[in-house]
Amino acid sequence: MFKKILIANRGEIALRIQRACKEMGIRSVVVYSEADRDAKYVKLADEAVCIGPAPSAQSYLNMPAIISTAEVTDAEAIHPGYGFLSENADFAERVEKSGFVFIGPTPESIRIMGDKVSAKQAMIKSGVPCVPGSPEALPEDPKEIIRIARAVGYPVIIKAAGGGGGRGMRVVHTEAALLHAVQTTRSEAGAAFGNPAVYMEKFLENPRHIEIQVLADEHRNAVWLGERDCSMQRRHQKIIEEAPAPGIPRRVIEKIGDRCAAACKKIGYRGAGTFEFLFENGEFYFIEMNTRVQVEHPVTELVTGIDIVQMQIRVAAGEKLPFSQRSIEMRGHAIECRINAEDPYKFTPSPGRITMWHPPGGPGVRVDSHVYTNYFVPPNYDSMIGKVICHGDTRDQALARMRTALSETLVDGIQTNIPLHRELMADAKFIEGGTSIHYLEHWLNDHRR
Ligand code: ADP
Repeated sequence: MFKKILIANRGEIALRIQRACKEMGIRSVVVYSEADRDAKYVKLADEAVCIGPAPSAQSYLNMPAIISTAEVTDAEAIHPGYGFLSENADFAERVEKSGFVFIGPTPESIRIMGDKVSAKQAMIKSGVPCVPGSPEALPEDPKEIIRIARAVGYPVIIKAAGGGGGRGMRVVHTEAALLHAVQTTRSEAGAAFGNPAVYMEKFLENPRHIEIQVLADEHRNAVWLGERDCSMQRRHQKIIEEAPAPGIPRRVIEKIGDRCAAACKKIGYRGAGTFEFLFENGEFYFIEMNTRVQVEHPVTELVTGIDIVQMQIRVAAGEKLPFSQRSIEMRGHAIECRINAEDPYKFTPSPGRITMWHPPGGPGVRVDSHVYTNYFVPPNYDSMIGKVICHGDTRDQALARMRTALSETLVDGIQTNIPLHRELMADAKFIEGGTSIHYLEHWLNDHRR
């Protein structure tokens, strides 16, 4: 096992990884920007190194600074967390070329999955069902684009092959709007992702977002750890996640889970990963694979009892997965609310000093957060300041615990989306379960004040 790991991230996930290291007796080195000098994980770290000013490009995305910090601190492996460099194949390659272990899949896997067109092709070859659409990136020929759209059937969605974070997508309802939409998405994709390639998919009208968590080692073992329902989204950003997904028969989930595990073996995948699907009329349609730990991993940890971050570290060190598919059991139900520093209804960011932070507690309540009373939320990064995750024997119990937890959570000095979460936990349709990816946006339109 590694003696020392460098954590190339910030915020709650930096603390989460640090906790996994401590439990495993591994020393951790954190890198931080000038804006994060007072963060909790910096104070709690065995070693902490400032790698640059607040802007991410000069700190958390600064590959030479991160790699040279690993060199001077004698770290053996680098954990990239999520976001930042976590899905950057060039970074993974540079880490390995410099003699360190990248805690994640191989650069080749990251590269294939990072391009959504090659990812879909790999999935089709591995027997994972995909959204019907263009088999490759769209050609230049307008006639050919029109032909493909007719074959797929309107409405269609034009998506950037290199897209991410819910950007680089455009829905097209009629042939008249098609070519212009392809052109605009291409130029946006070129500017935002450095790759103008776009592809086409059937636009599913009312799907749910269901994803499968996988873990694989270097010894050709791969398992899936159940599913998560992440349909509560605004602008393609998840805000509530839960496991298991309400109302989907286990045999339907098992079938897709087994396919995902088989696909991992087929593509030689290593580490933790997530297969994201849209689910409509009882069918799963693959949309993309994330080759890293996800924000919502705790709901899976609470229902399976498996520490996903520790497993990432173990398989990166070359260990075999310590369990087989048959020994994995899902127990009870877990729900996560992402707490963001923002106006709860207008969604404008609300950075600044937290004058009081009082997290909830009690049975089945987990809080993953790096903030504390008097902490200053910097304006430079993502607005998420933590996650409240509740577990219960049943979904009803998990919901009741979440309501209690949210009623206890007090944050002063900045605005947060806690009032929105409190309302959603009391919403009849959400309580019923199984809402689609459009539900929250519609709800917000109906509840505008
Ligand atoms: P990103 O990498 O930017 O997150 P995804 O491919 O995962 O992009 O899609 C993000 C979201 O966009 C999905 O969760 C869903 O809400 C919507 N979406 C993507 N593809 C489709 C589709 N074919 N039909 C309907 N909605 C889609």
